[in-house]
Amino acid sequence: MTHDQRIDVAVTSDDIGVGLADELLKVQAFHDEFDIPVTHFIVPFSLETDLGITTDPKLIDAMKLVEDRGSENQLHAYRHNLFEWGYPEIVSAMDLDEKVCEQFADSRFAIEAYHQKDAMRERLLLAMDEWERATGRRPTGFRSGWGSFSGTLYELLNEQGFRWSSVRFASRTGWKWSKEECESADSYPETINDAVGLAPFRQGDLVEFPILGDFGFHAQRSQANRLIGLFKRQFAICQERNAPCVMVHHFHGLAAGGDNADSGYDIYREIFTWLKETQNVRFVTMDALCDAWKDRAITKPPQRMPQMG
Ligand SMILES: [Zn+2]
Repeated sequence: MTHDQRIDVAVTSDDIGVGLADELLKVQAFHDEFDIPVTHFIVPFSLETDLGITTDPKLIDAMKLVEDRGSENQLHAYRHNLFEWGYPEIVSAMDLDEKVCEQFADSRFAIEAYHQKDAMRERLLLAMDEWERATGRRPTGFRSGWGSFSGTLYELLNEQGFRWSSVRFASRTGWKWSKEECESADSYPETINDAVGLAPFRQGDLVEFPILGDFGFHAQRSQANRLIGLFKRQFAICQERNAPCVMVHHFHGLAAGGDNADSGYDIYREIFTWLKETQNVRFVTMDALCDAWKDRAITKPPQRMPQMG
């Protein structure tokens, strides 16, 4: 079977914030080489210092340049705290670190208070206000840190007029395979998590665009071919299902370090070249993706309680 259907590909890049203007420009320049627009998800307040992006004029200038190049900036969380918008995706957080599990067990009541709707609204408004003061406009899209989400988050995004979000993980495989301590993770199955799926779905008036994966997250050079192969096979599933392909990477994950410096850039260079030279694709920003897909988004039935044990 040939795939004549053109696939929309949105490349997204996470975690730029205060003090990271040079990193933003590096990520942007990399995509300019391929003439590929990027959606940069920018964190409005620093987790370490609590400083906001309005205190960093160099970053504001870099964000303007991004938009002049046909890319876009959108809102990434508030301070990128683990439990900010609900519970994080298990694989990215809980499973990453045993201490996180302990922290969760010890802080359950504090986390519960943190997840009250009023508390979450206050956080979202602070994030949006800082964003608006920095850019002169409201963000139209949202991504949380660590894939944390909840029904309350979606209610608030609707209430505040967001058009779309992109917080769910359609597959955990790339994340599992990227983890440096998981060199032997080949056994983790190459599956799409059908509880999330690849199709954009409606949450109220908002459309959620699930993330296919990050194929260059702090990757070791020895893992490169495995991750590129995974991308090609998962892209074929996007073609089979006629779903958009939403990729994510992180400036720190691309750059990695030591013997693996810039390994993520090398992986994405191969992926982009392959897509451009051999596949029928259209590269778009997330906001343009929302324009193209908002009337085609599916409605999912409510999830049922799983049977455990
Ligand atoms: Zn992030």
